[in-house]
Amino acid sequence: MKKENSKGTNFWLKLYIALVAVAGIAALIIILMYPLPTISIWEIIFLMGLNLTFSFFQVTLPSGMSISLSFPITMGIFLLFGPAPAIITLIPGLVIHSLRRATPWRLPFNIGQVSLSLILASSVFRIYGDFPATFSLQDHLFLMLGVLFLFDTFSNALVCGALVLQGRGNFFKLFFSSLISDVIKIIPIYYTIGIIFTLVYQQEGILGGFLVSLPLISVYFILRDQQLIKESQEKALVDSLTNLYNRRYIENWFSKNLPQINQRCGELSVLLLDIDNFKQVNDNYGHQVGDFVLRFVSRRIENSVRDSDIVARYGGEEFIILLPDTPPEIASQVGERIRENIAGHPCETSWGKIYLTVSIGMASLRGQDEDKKNKEELIRQADNAAYLAKFQGKNQVCSYQ
Ligand code: GH3
Ligand code: MG
Ligand code: MG
Repeated sequence: MKKENSKGTNFWLKLYIALVAVAGIAALIIILMYPLPTISIWEIIFLMGLNLTFSFFQVTLPSGMSISLSFPITMGIFLLFGPAPAIITLIPGLVIHSLRRATPWRLPFNIGQVSLSLILASSVFRIYGDFPATFSLQDHLFLMLGVLFLFDTFSNALVCGALVLQGRGNFFKLFFSSLISDVIKIIPIYYTIGIIFTLVYQQEGILGGFLVSLPLISVYFILRDQQLIKESQEKALVDSLTNLYNRRYIENWFSKNLPQINQRCGELSVLLLDIDNFKQVNDNYGHQVGDFVLRFVSRRIENSVRDSDIVARYGGEEFIILLPDTPPEIASQVGERIRENIAGHPCETSWGKIYLTVSIGMASLRGQDEDKKNKEELIRQADNAAYLAKFQGKNQVCSYQ
C-alpha cells in the first residue's frame, strides 16, 4: 500500500511537465513549418472526426497506463500525410478530454509529448528517404513497425517520467513493465490496424479508412472487459469496510510466499491484533460508530508499519500484520509501536472521544521445526499469544514462547 508522496516531488513534477510542454511546443512549431502535404479539407475533416470519435474509447493497458484508441488512426495519418496533419487532427480530442477531466494544465504536456515523439519518428523517414512516402506492404513493413515502435517507446518514456515524479515508483521498472506487458498484449493488434489503415486508405480513401477503423470498437470492448475482470479480482482481495486486504489475500500470500521464505531460510513474523472490549463500542454507540472505529484502527496500523508489511482485516475486529524479513525482537517492537499509536490517540467520533486499546500476539518463523513452518501453525501461535495478552489484562503485546 502506497503512502502519499511528499510535497517536495510536486515541484519537480511541475517543472518536468513545464519542460516537456516547452520543448513540445517548439517541436510543434517545427512540425507546422514542414511543407504541408496535399490533402483536401474534406479529408482533414473526416480524419479529425475519426480521431476525435476514437479518442472517447479510453482503456487501461495491462501496465496500468491509460490510452485512447485513436492511436492507430493518428499513426495512420502520420504515415500517410506526415506529422503536421497527425497533430492537427489529434488536438481537438486532446482539448476536449483535458477540459472534461478538468486538467487543462496538462494539455501542453500532452501536445508536447506527441509532438516530440512525432519529430523523433519522422527523423527515421528522413534518414531513410522521402517522407511521406507511398507505401507498399513489402517495401515498408519494417520501416513502419520501427517508426510506430519508436514513437510509442519515446511517448511511453515521457509519461513514465511524470509517473515517477508523482511517486508511483522507479522509472526503469515502470518503463519496462509497461513496454513488456503492453507490447505483448496490445501492440500487435494496435500496430496492425494502424498499418492496414494506412495501406487501405492509400488505395480506397475515406471509405476504406472508415471500414478499417471499425475493428477498433471490438478492441475497445475486449480491453474494457479485461480491465473490469482485473478490477473485480483485485476487489475480491480487499475488505470493503477498511480498505485493507482481506483474509483471502492473506491465504494467497502465504501459499505464494511461504515456500520461498522457507527455502531461503528467510524470516517472517506475524502479529494478530484484536481490539479490546470492542463489543462495548457497538453496544454504547451503535454499529456505525463501531465501523468508524474499525477504519480508524486500520489507518493507525497502516501508519505504524513499513510499506512492505502486509496489513489485513482477518475477521470482525481482528487484524493480521505480516512482517517479511523481520526477526521476532523487531516484530515485538513493531507490535508495541502499533499498540502505543492506538492507545495514545483517542478516536474522535460524533459521540466524542473514544479511548481504545488493543491486544497483540506475535509469532515468528525463527526457531521453528521444519514441519511447523506452515501458515496454520504460525497463526495458531500468534492467536495463542493474543489470548495470553487478553488473559494478562489486555492492552499489551505478547510473544509466543
Ligand atoms: P475482547 O476485549 O475480549 O476482545 O472483547 P470484545 O468485545 O472486543 O470481543 P468480542 O469477540 O466479544 O466482540 C467482538 C465484536 O465485534 C462483536 C461484533 O458485534 C463486533 N463486530 C464484528 N465485526 C464487526 C463489524 O464489521 N462492524 C462492527 N461495528 N462491529 C463488528
Ligand atoms: Mg475478537
Ligand atoms: Mg476484541
